[in-house]
Amino acid sequence: MTLDELYRELDAIPAPDWTPGAPFREVQEVMARVQTSLRAYDPALAAAAEGLLHLGPGELEALLAEAFAGALGDRPEPERFVLLAALRAYARGLAREAEGDGARCPVCGGEADAAYLDEDGGRHLVCAVCDSRWAVPRIACPYCGEADHKKLRYYPYDPHYRLYQCLTCGATLPAVDLREAGRLDLPALRAAGVEMRFLLEAGRVEG
Ligand SMILES: [Zn+2]
Ligand SMILES: [Zn+2]
Repeated sequence: MTLDELYRELDAIPAPDWTPGAPFREVQEVMARVQTSLRAYDPALAAAAEGLLHLGPGELEALLAEAFAGALGDRPEPERFVLLAALRAYARGLAREAEGDGARCPVCGGEADAAYLDEDGGRHLVCAVCDSRWAVPRIACPYCGEADHKKLRYYPYDPHYRLYQCLTCGATLPAVDLREAGRLDLPALRAAGVEMRFLLEAGRVEG
């Protein structure tokens, strides 16, 4: 299974209706679905998060609430991946086009993890937690507001993608140009984002 296919499977996991502050119902079932998909992609990664499956519903609900509050700080990376994937199954029901500025989601308070350019070249951010979208100025870093073009880089990537990098705050943001790609495919964009960040960290891209 490719990373693109993993993101696609995770996006298809259904969860009971949920609104911020409400309990996460049937959380053990949702977590088990996430683990099944993750195992098909990378058994070692799934095994590293296996401990979550032994927790009771109350503990899991508390962890998802922490994930929603952005407070998973010291959890191991594989567990964070699983918890965020499960949280997204609940939060996706909130997704909408919204008004916002900066990198914080105006709907749920999560942080943007991807962006796209619309048919007019306008830039929109996508929330990592609930998939809501909102327009932001293209000239500045949405995370810290840096607008000095010498501090902002972007790296083109085959064929429709690019990775923005802010040298001031260190943030990176994968984006797709819909004038070339045609439609927004979030699993493909997020998978490309992982690849682009990997290449950047490995020093294998040129701006
Ligand atoms: Zn959101
Ligand atoms: Zn920045």
